[in-house]
Amino acid sequence: MPLIKSWVPGANDPDTDFPLNNLPCGVFSTDGGDPHCGVAIGDMILDVTAAEEAGVLSAGDEPVFDVPFWNDFMDLGPDAWAAFRADLTAALAENAVKKHALEPFLVPRGTATMHMPFAVSEYTDFYAGRNHAFNVGTMFRGPENALPPNWLHMPIGYNGRASSVVVSGTDLHRPRGQLKSPDHDMPAFLPSRRLDFELEMGAIVGQPSQGMVSVAEAEAMIFGYVLLNDWSARDIQAWEYQPLGPFQSKATATTISPWIVTKAALEPFRTSTPEREKPLLPYLREPGPMLYDIALEAALAPAGKPETVITRTNYREMYYSAPQQLAHHTTSGCPMNVGDLLGSGTISGKNAPERGSMLELSWGGKEPLTLESGETRSFLEDGDRLTLRGHAQGDGYRIGFGEATGAVLPALEDPYAR
Ligand code: CA
Repeated sequence: MPLIKSWVPGANDPDTDFPLNNLPCGVFSTDGGDPHCGVAIGDMILDVTAAEEAGVLSAGDEPVFDVPFWNDFMDLGPDAWAAFRADLTAALAENAVKKHALEPFLVPRGTATMHMPFAVSEYTDFYAGRNHAFNVGTMFRGPENALPPNWLHMPIGYNGRASSVVVSGTDLHRPRGQLKSPDHDMPAFLPSRRLDFELEMGAIVGQPSQGMVSVAEAEAMIFGYVLLNDWSARDIQAWEYQPLGPFQSKATATTISPWIVTKAALEPFRTSTPEREKPLLPYLREPGPMLYDIALEAALAPAGKPETVITRTNYREMYYSAPQQLAHHTTSGCPMNVGDLLGSGTISGKNAPERGSMLELSWGGKEPLTLESGETRSFLEDGDRLTLRGHAQGDGYRIGFGEATGAVLPALEDPYAR
């Protein structure tokens, strides 16, 4: 598919994240005003809340953009998603008759503050990247036992916290927790010394389910995707995770990019999951390609210093797709809701510069990275800013995700140390 040309400034620039082919969904405010739903286009945001209120745009019989999140729109379902996208595409295309009606609802993107684009119902984090699981398993158990015995048979995951999912630009305090080194009998309560990021994609569930759904049905339930950084305190994780999995180590914050890139925008970039090393049970088999070719990177900037891109990888490295994860999630009969967020699991490529976490990049701290500033890092230090970026490259345009960024602040005071 070629670039669809638009009359909006900046939308036809081959390097913009937001050409007319994209139309991602976000929530923004300007000048301290109320947050509105908006769609990014070129250098601008189309204020769909104001346009709906003025009767210039609508997604159905009832207003759905009178709330500062996209859940009500998602609730309308795939036919409404497609119809609204077609209307917007026509109205924003070059020579559109609706140009003069929509122009007053464009806001310069540079003046906007971004908010959470949807209300997170629940958050589930998977562990579905084979290279990441192999690398981490190798560090902890050796290469022969790197993958747990269930790993090639199902996408394994745990229930995370929706309450600490935050939008890009939110900084986080270094968490405290129980740390126990092998040469001590007792754990200590201290700020984490091994704070890490995880480069992931998040899939957003846009339709509810009751009972078990197939992979094809799960695919139809997904509304779109965001970049996701699942901040992780490795030292807290190492002591707490057996036998029930991560708990406080991953509860501090999960940062997402502010724009939901819809499944429709990603359609030209579909790609298949890799060849199966073990045959999957029928309920996990995909009827077609359900991953996407999305180039991803993470950059680290110490306080006041330029950033260094520390890894480049691609979403197509996943072993399991989001529809497979979602289908597996429903096997128990667990109902899924509009606004459920599924983390893909860390996306690492096969080679060392493609690893999606500090744990892997520094190989457990044994091989510190050297940044462009000359500083070295095994894990994140106070003041460090970590930024994820991603885009699918089309012919003369790109479907971009914007950024998922956050800086590490010092640990908050320990109330027991006063
Ligand atoms: Ca994770």
